[in-house]
Amino acid sequence: MLSVISHDEIVEIKVSRTFMGRPVYFNSFFLVDGLLIDTGPAHVSREVERLLARLPVEKAVVTHQHEDHTGNCRMLQEKLDLPIFAHPLTLKVMSDPPALQCYRRFMWGHAPSAAGKPLPGLIRTPRFRFQVIHTPGHSPDHVSLFEPEQKWLFCGDLYLGEKLNGFMQGEDIAAHLDSLKKVIRLGPQTLFCSLKGKVENAAARLADKYSYWWDLGCTVRDLHGRGASPRQILRKLFHDEILFYYLSARNWGRRYLVESLINNREIFQNNKH
Ligand SMILES: [Zn+2]
Repeated sequence: MLSVISHDEIVEIKVSRTFMGRPVYFNSFFLVDGLLIDTGPAHVSREVERLLARLPVEKAVVTHQHEDHTGNCRMLQEKLDLPIFAHPLTLKVMSDPPALQCYRRFMWGHAPSAAGKPLPGLIRTPRFRFQVIHTPGHSPDHVSLFEPEQKWLFCGDLYLGEKLNGFMQGEDIAAHLDSLKKVIRLGPQTLFCSLKGKVENAAARLADKYSYWWDLGCTVRDLHGRGASPRQILRKLFHDEILFYYLSARNWGRRYLVESLINNREIFQNNKH
């Protein structure tokens, strides 16, 4: 399922996988002044092709390696001859995509291998310029795009909401917090997020997210200092795992956030951020 939402100069392309007629997940990517930011998952490839064939698209930037962002790179190159730019680590994964867990194949589909070009530090379109900001944490290759005049931040999967209580395996809380700090300093006004779409009061929302994880980190530090095990900390904070941990074949869960907080507990020593 695909829908198009207009935010003045910015087109949000919102897609979802439906199950029994109901959407089970939303994922947005964006088109601004001929620049496509992320390409959406492969399961909507035909709809994306039909839509973009009638819109002015000149080039694409991919924010990170996950298949819901890289899924249509090959189709866009083959059908629309679109140049694709990405972080070198993203390009490496795009050229040889890994096997996916069942839930990822179902939700987004497998991204066919694709080539691209390394991202420069600045992306220009006829009317705008976008600073490329390396924002690892969700994945090591993650980038965000900031338009300094408009104060727009296209942030891929960096935000996803203020109180995110789980991580995919391998996410890194220390890098996440550094990345949040980096983009908060830019003073963004509007976020364009792959899950939440357009979000106003961007700097405040990002600061709230930072504070939430920071406070969680301080609590984890204290519990760990009193000898609590990772399992006991998980129970204390969240009661238990969520169902999605099992549905995702143990690939996404609260325990990975807790583990990352424990592993990085030294950054929470000062009680202030
Ligand atoms: Zn992602």
